[in-house]
Amino acid sequence: MKLKKSLGQHFLIQPSIAQKIISLMLPVEDTESVLEIGPGRGALTRHLLHLKNQLWLIEKDVFWVEYLKKQFPDIENRIICGDVLEFSLSNLPQQPVHVIGNMPYNISGPLLFMAIEQKDNLVEWLGMLQKEVVERIIAHPGTKSYGILSVLLQIFFHVKKHFVVSPFAFQPPPQVNSAVIQLVPKKITLPCPEQIFITVVKHAFKQRRKKLSNALKGLPLNKIPNSFANKRAEELNPQEFVELSTYYEL
Ligand code: SAH
Repeated sequence: MKLKKSLGQHFLIQPSIAQKIISLMLPVEDTESVLEIGPGRGALTRHLLHLKNQLWLIEKDVFWVEYLKKQFPDIENRIICGDVLEFSLSNLPQQPVHVIGNMPYNISGPLLFMAIEQKDNLVEWLGMLQKEVVERIIAHPGTKSYGILSVLLQIFFHVKKHFVVSPFAFQPPPQVNSAVIQLVPKKITLPCPEQIFITVVKHAFKQRRKKLSNALKGLPLNKIPNSFANKRAEELNPQEFVELSTYYEL
């Protein structure tokens, strides 16, 4: 077997864990589709075959694409060989989309930002990630893990950590623990442009221990209220970041 570290290839070898992940999926309606990211050797895929023509796979490694086509000839036309980071969910004929995967950990950050950008096309995003990243997603203010991912994802999604998976469930075992996280888009409209909110959060955490009046210098603003000026990024809850963002301009 040829395994590429650069593509984060750690294959799940415990079928019970694959089944447990699949059982967490929300019901798939007839009009919706399911996209599996990075199917690799098909550990999750084999539990998704009942979805028939609603199932799509995207895998970057040609070797495993060829393998999957042989293993699962019924879905060979729906195995996309490509980079998920360049893929738009709106390309799929059935909408919205359930995204599922034992994700390539080396691109966790970009994958999560992609989920934010494409949230209008999502029913849910259910994935295995490095446990530490999952902890950052669900973290509360004032903790070490609290940061950009916590604020952005908690504003746009209901976030739920399901269970932790040991390295020995994979071949080869990764050097970190893993955990399964489910993101379900919230139906919300921000009182400010989303791009401003995202920029403010990113800026604030770049210098997380500085007072916001300093950390946010350089962003065009109306007037930052005193109640925020003397606080630090790690002290604000996600909703307070939304409020803070209404004082900024594009
Ligand atoms: N889901 C499988 C494999 C997980 S390993 C299992 O549970 O066993 C991660 C998989 O993502 C690998 O197959 C890797 O080739 C694939 N991958 C890595 N980067 C990718 C990218 N940018 N786009 C699509 N697939 C990618």
